[in-house]
Amino acid sequence: MHEIAASSIAAFSTESKSRRSYPYSIDTTCPRCGRAKVTLLTHDPAYDSDRTTMMATAKCPACRQESHIWYVDDTYLFIRPSPPIISRAPIEGYELLPERIRKAYRAALDVHNAKVWTASAVACRRTLEGIVNELHAEGEGTLAKQLRELPNKVDLAAPLITLSQALKEGGNLGAHFDQEKEPDRETAEAMLNLIEYFLEYVYTLPRMIDDLNQKLEALGQEEEDANQES
Ligand SMILES: [Zn+2]
Repeated sequence: MHEIAASSIAAFSTESKSRRSYPYSIDTTCPRCGRAKVTLLTHDPAYDSDRTTMMATAKCPACRQESHIWYVDDTYLFIRPSPPIISRAPIEGYELLPERIRKAYRAALDVHNAKVWTASAVACRRTLEGIVNELHAEGEGTLAKQLRELPNKVDLAAPLITLSQALKEGGNLGAHFDQEKEPDRETAEAMLNLIEYFLEYVYTLPRMIDDLNQKLEALGQEEEDANQES
């Protein structure tokens, strides 16, 4: 059983007996074939009034196989079986990361792909500590606090400020970077996603943009030279 965000429900329909609405189409990963971003269509809904739960069968348009969904209290959505975990490859520009951070991130990725969520969360914390140290932004307090203060100490691009803001508001995720809480799959994935955004914004994107600029300048220079020759 796997919980999916209720925001994945694209459309509702009405079950005829109970006259209650149920998720009719759901944008998610197919638990059977693992295809991401498919729209599962449900059929045969049934309402269990004692458990305030709507149940239905969902069909994948890609592999045509079926899975089961439960919609509890008009709020929580579950699917069975759980979608397969697909191994994550390192972010683009991985080789541009400073060595220490690259190693820490690689460790996070490896244990994540081995589905050891606790170890993955610990490795994510280490990577984040590495980034904060590397940016010379370390200070007092917990890692989550240091992160929140990052924009005051380092000139960050706007998207990264938004990210630290998100950490501040989504206190839960921020807390996971400090506490030895037992993380589940969703938390571990959210932490790794956050690490990857950080790595991309701080290290790989600026380098790629520089490279592109240099290429464009070189092209411009070639054109100028060609014009002068003709
Ligand atoms: Zn499928």
